[in-house]
Amino acid sequence: MTRKALVLGAGMVGVSCALALQKRGITVTLIDRKPPGRETSYGNAGVLAASSIAPLNNPSLYAKIAGYLGNRHPALNLSWRRAFSRPGWLLRFLWEARPSQGAARIAALQALTASTVERHRALMTEAGVSHRLRETGTLKLWRTEAGHEAARAEHDFLKSHGIESQILDRQGISGIEPSLNPIFPAGLLIPCVGSVDSPGAVTEAYAALFAERGGRIEQAAITGLARNGKGWRASTASGSFDADIAVVALGPWSGDLLKPLGIDPKLDVERGYHRHLKPDAGTGLSRPIYDVDGAYYMAPMEQGFRVTSGVDLSFRDAPDQHRQIDGATAAAREAFPLGEVVGETWRGARPTLPDSLPMIGEAPRNPGLWLAFGNQHIGFSTGPITGEMIAAMVCGEKPPIDPTPFRPGRYIR
Ligand SMILES: Cc1cc2nc3c(=O)[nH]c(=O)nc-3n(C[C@H](O)[C@H](O)[C@H](O)COP(=O)(O)OP(=O)(O)OC[C@H]3O[C@@H](n4cnc5c(N)ncnc54)[C@H](O)[C@@H]3O)c2cc1C
Repeated sequence: MTRKALVLGAGMVGVSCALALQKRGITVTLIDRKPPGRETSYGNAGVLAASSIAPLNNPSLYAKIAGYLGNRHPALNLSWRRAFSRPGWLLRFLWEARPSQGAARIAALQALTASTVERHRALMTEAGVSHRLRETGTLKLWRTEAGHEAARAEHDFLKSHGIESQILDRQGISGIEPSLNPIFPAGLLIPCVGSVDSPGAVTEAYAALFAERGGRIEQAAITGLARNGKGWRASTASGSFDADIAVVALGPWSGDLLKPLGIDPKLDVERGYHRHLKPDAGTGLSRPIYDVDGAYYMAPMEQGFRVTSGVDLSFRDAPDQHRQIDGATAAAREAFPLGEVVGETWRGARPTLPDSLPMIGEAPRNPGLWLAFGNQHIGFSTGPITGEMIAAMVCGEKPPIDPTPFRPGRYIR
């Protein structure tokens, strides 16, 4: 029986695991080198992505590749050094996009994302931060007339999966977002999507709730993870921590601690950037928007309007490249009356497995070692269900959704 657990990593995924295990009476120590919610879970667009059911690597990617290769498209930057030195992940990522895998991965992502707003609403109420939640949907926008067809296709796709959306023309768009410049002839409003005005503050509030309920939070860099008798030991510069089980929820760093154990989860990263801009006085947005042709999200946040970039496929720790975020900033200025940039440009890394599904479950051949990472573009949304799944499986309960598509054994032998 599990009495004590270590949760490694205090991003949205780790904090959610800690809360869910604690709810089941397990004594949890949550360890992070930083205060909770200061990394990827801080810098994202804060979208509660209830309609993000199509993986990024879907069959349409094959047709787009040629247009991406010159590194001119805002959606993707590909470091050729990375591509040539680690071809395995990219090839697998492309292989997983084949049509035969589509339906199963869409079903898995829909199961994972469907309850995001409901789960965050409940947690935000418990943590006293409901004021940070917006239930106003998200608005996808196209700059050309061809957007009408694209909006219709997406509407029909979502409808076939039971997700309602509303196709808008220029007038309809300005009806719900009057401050937007009228450069978008076509739009799609997806009402079931939620958003928050500070993902970092929400993660922090969930961690504070965990601490208030008696959970222990240790701020220390974890230098090692090893079996200790029947349990697990995490080593840090300030001492070691022992428990019956360990949950690895280190986001884009999860592979680092697993490697010495001989575990390669095939995790890589899709980097991304954000920048805050001040909206002009008297203007506003009621929901995050996604400019399809500019390939950026713009979301109203506590700090200003947060513009987030497309995918930068470079080494996790390589220096910044600002081509995409500069382009996104310029495109956002065309779409909205924006003033000065506030603060520094932020860089983060979406933790991604080749099939765009997270790893949620016990590591093969390592009883008591639980893996919770790889939540790619939707980890802020899917942290809470990931935590519930881990905690249920640890306690031998039925998890809220079928864990099979997320089993670690699909990549770890
Ligand atoms: C630009 C961008 C936009 C995004 N937009 C959205 C969005 O709108 N909606 C959405 O749902 N998702 C979005 N995402 C994805 C989402 O942010 C991530 O999937 C999610 O935050 C991952 O959470 P995590 O807890 O796994 O990782 P993290 O939040 O990165 O947490 C991992 C933690 O591990 C700690 N750590 C690492 N190594 C060590 C060590 N050795 N010792 C101690 N601690 C360690 C880190 O300090 C960190 O706190 C976006 C991501 C990016 C980059």
